[in-house]
Amino acid sequence: MKKFKICGRCKRKLPNTKEYFHANNQSVDKLHYYCKKCRSKERTEWGRKNPDKVFKYWLNRRWKERKELIGRNSSDTQKEL
Ligand SMILES: [Zn+2]
Repeated sequence: MKKFKICGRCKRKLPNTKEYFHANNQSVDKLHYYCKKCRSKERTEWGRKNPDKVFKYWLNRRWKERKELIGRNSSDTQKEL
């Protein structure tokens, strides 16, 4: 018997599996309140409303990746940067 979960945003009835919902350890059923489609939609909308935050996020992420790269590789990489 399959169990269903109603998305808190689009109110669609979907199987309560990780195929349709993102994992969320803080919720009772270990799944997110919104379905995957709504989650991605929400993120895009949030990004449209907060372009500066998205920019900062990516900047921070790129910076971190670069830092890791420097730490991992030899001095040859550092010369390139
Ligand atoms: Zn939904």
